[in-house]
Amino acid sequence: MAFTRARRLDELPSYLFIEIDRKKKAAIAAGKDVIDLGVGDPDRPTPTFVIEEMARAIYDPKHHRYPFDDGAPEFKREVAAWFRRRFGVELDPATELLSVIGTKEALGHLPLACLNPGDVALIPQPGYPVYQSATIFAGGRPYVMPLAEERGWLPELELIPGDVLRRTRLMFLNYPNNPTGAVADRAFFERCIALAQRHDFIVVQDAAYSEMCFDAPAPSILSLPGARECCIELHSLSKTFNMTGWRLGFAAGNPDVVTALAKVKGNVDSGQFGAIQEAGAAAYREYDRPEIAAIRETYRRRRDVLVDGLRRVGFGVRPPAATFYVFAGCPGGIDSMTCATRMLEEASVVAIPGIGFGAAGEGYVRFALCAEVERIAEAAERIAKIRWSSVRGS
Ligand SMILES: *Cc1c(COP(=O)(O)O)cnc(C)c1O
Repeated sequence: MAFTRARRLDELPSYLFIEIDRKKKAAIAAGKDVIDLGVGDPDRPTPTFVIEEMARAIYDPKHHRYPFDDGAPEFKREVAAWFRRRFGVELDPATELLSVIGTKEALGHLPLACLNPGDVALIPQPGYPVYQSATIFAGGRPYVMPLAEERGWLPELELIPGDVLRRTRLMFLNYPNNPTGAVADRAFFERCIALAQRHDFIVVQDAAYSEMCFDAPAPSILSLPGARECCIELHSLSKTFNMTGWRLGFAAGNPDVVTALAKVKGNVDSGQFGAIQEAGAAAYREYDRPEIAAIRETYRRRRDVLVDGLRRVGFGVRPPAATFYVFAGCPGGIDSMTCATRMLEEASVVAIPGIGFGAAGEGYVRFALCAEVERIAEAAERIAKIRWSSVRGS
């Protein structure tokens, strides 16, 4: 029997880091000392107080049965209390909050709950690839909103054509932004809300990096007037609490969207393990502990070391205001694939070519600050030894 995979998989954008990934594995196999600044995955462990809560909760037999469909009440209660303290927004845990198995899961399922075949989803690029693949899985049409550095990496809403807006049911936003490190202000969110109200669509704001800001804290889109009618915001414990492996986050906002997403999830998963949600409740309850602020300070130090090093070599880069990414303009105007390939082959440093995040990412490479500061300093030294001036753009 010949297996033919479903056509929708062929509609996904091609995976452009595959070549870098292959070269990285080859370098490691060849015994090279590879410094991997490719993946955005915290290198430090989860704070001990969270692990201890999990160790206690795992013995409670109530967690050994199916979890509650829309999330553990104690987790949602703590999330609502944190949201009030952090953003000044009052959420009803019963109707406006839903536990999710990481924001990636929520992003993957939201289009199934919101889009009919042919409906448009507005997608920022460069951006997290899941917005586009989830739209395609739901039979929707992705419409790309290009982001550019000279506009603070915010989309130009005025450039979206009227006939696209008429068919738009979803708009994806992601601030603080992966891969650019940009933050959005309240005025930008206000303009998105006004557009959503005028054209009757839902704004999905991916807030995975809301707690990783180096200057002013990022606002929640839900703190703006009218947002709770037309927005859904996705939060994650992954990056904030070094918990990527645990798979926990929450969706907050419009109750009808929350209910629709819960309906999809009720048919594909049965929620996250209750003990993990209890540990997550402890994380938000004790958000003010010094070890959480220390996570942010660690990334700030790493950011400054890398940005300093890259600027001296001729990369176009300023310290990002948020996230653990540095999105740097390639030296000498070379293309992003050439730049990433040379760093890997000549310095054994892994970074992601910007083209992998969409055409608008060309000319940049993304470094993730997920290695100790000494290794990041070493990476910068090795990159400085590459003879960049001899490069001709390909
Ligand atoms: C890491 C990341 C996520 C995924 O977070 P999980 O909660 O671990 O699924 C979502 N969005 C962006 C932009 C990310 O970088």
